[in-house]
Amino acid sequence: MLPPNHEGGFGMEDCIFCKIVKGDIPSIKIYEDEHVFAFMDINPVSEGHALVIPKMHAENLWEIPVAELYAVHAVSKKIVHAMTRAMGSVSVAAVQLNGRGVNQVVMHYHLHLIPRASDGEALKLTTWEMIPGDLEAINRTGTAIATAIAYDKDQ
Ligand code: AMP
Ligand code: ZN
Repeated sequence: MLPPNHEGGFGMEDCIFCKIVKGDIPSIKIYEDEHVFAFMDINPVSEGHALVIPKMHAENLWEIPVAELYAVHAVSKKIVHAMTRAMGSVSVAAVQLNGRGVNQVVMHYHLHLIPRASDGEALKLTTWEMIPGDLEAINRTGTAIATAIAYDKDQ
């Protein structure tokens, strides 16, 4: 029986990112420490597109332990500084997908760092249209989430 929100990704034996961490398949590594590994995406959305991952196998935001999550995001700060030094002024989209429904393809938590140089093309994934929503519906869903958070705190 799989835990909730685990979508039946491969176990860590067959996980491509676990293999990259172990060095069983090659990658263009840019950073490594005890908990975190970072490397270049081989299908870059823009020049400099990098991935930051925990060394331990965790499928998504539901499963990753908070300490690993913190470590990944702390390293992302180091990497965006380095991108600026290496590439000049950039803006960076930090993107992270959870679940096949939003097109997560590799079922090992990863943070995309997708830079856009000041003279670079606009990133399609950041140029969605702002359409005002139905405030009543937004309020209903927000209240449901807030109630669930309060319930979690009480458990
Ligand atoms: P997603 O799961 O949709 O957030 O994206 C998975 C990302 O992993 C994609 O951007 C792929 O290009 C990238 N990717 C898959 N295999 C490799 C690999 N062997 N080396 C580097 N990047 C990879
Ligand atoms: Zn893995």
